[in-house]
Amino acid sequence: DITVGVLALQGAFSEHIQLLQKAAIGLESPQPLIFILVKTPSELARCSALIIPGGESTTMALIAERSNLLEPLRDFVKADRRPTWGTCAGMILLSEAANRTKKGGQELIGGLSVRVNRNHFGRQMESFEAPLQLSFLAQDAPPFSGVFIRAPIVESIMPREVRDSDVEVRAPTKAARGNVESVFADDDHVEVIAELRRRVLPGEALSVADGERGNGGDVSSIVAVRQGNVVGTSFHPELTSDPRIHRWWLEEVLKDLKRREELLKELRV
Ligand code: GLN
Repeated sequence: DITVGVLALQGAFSEHIQLLQKAAIGLESPQPLIFILVKTPSELARCSALIIPGGESTTMALIAERSNLLEPLRDFVKADRRPTWGTCAGMILLSEAANRTKKGGQELIGGLSVRVNRNHFGRQMESFEAPLQLSFLAQDAPPFSGVFIRAPIVESIMPREVRDSDVEVRAPTKAARGNVESVFADDDHVEVIAELRRRVLPGEALSVADGERGNGGDVSSIVAVRQGNVVGTSFHPELTSDPRIHRWWLEEVLKDLKRREELLKELRV
């Protein structure tokens, strides 16, 4: 079997399982796909790929720490480089850096060389739906309806040398994590999958974080990225009934497994 896990410490995990099941219908796979909830290190060890759902990233990180899952998760993402997709709070956890919120710092898993701004959208915009063009969908495909709930955005993509001094929370570096080799090449490319364009009215703040009020206009924010094996989306596809992103991601998971198998074969020759 091919086991795909959904981290089930907190948040919208069952919705992901439902949409994965829908997305797997008719998908050609060398072995049956099974979807499991992951709450322990041994459950994680069974997985070929993982989804980290939306919810509350500080809480999720705390529970992960208490469940002894933080280091296994970092190894899963950064050493084994297994396909991992984080939605909303999940994307925050998969980022190398995040701004601090009122509640203070939190642990991150890392894997995406980006800095996120948590709760980017202000009070009036805490939750909304917006049509998105996704880079992997056909140009003429209907847009994907992005559900944003106290959503983060990708504020910046990190250069090789991170000099961003006001980053408050950062995933531990390779040195801090001890003997686990970080396998991310410095120049591993961060690909933008989707941007949200919205119109800001004159006098309206661009985000809670900057609080800047200007003359209004169109602003565009990065809301979906991919860096190698790691995918992050600001929004919640699992709260829609549209399985297109789940389908695409499962196809990427199968491609990854095939590549691993081929590599193993080459090594054996
Ligand atoms: N803003 C939340 C956080 O910081 C994430 C919200 C969500 O996942 N819907 O964790």
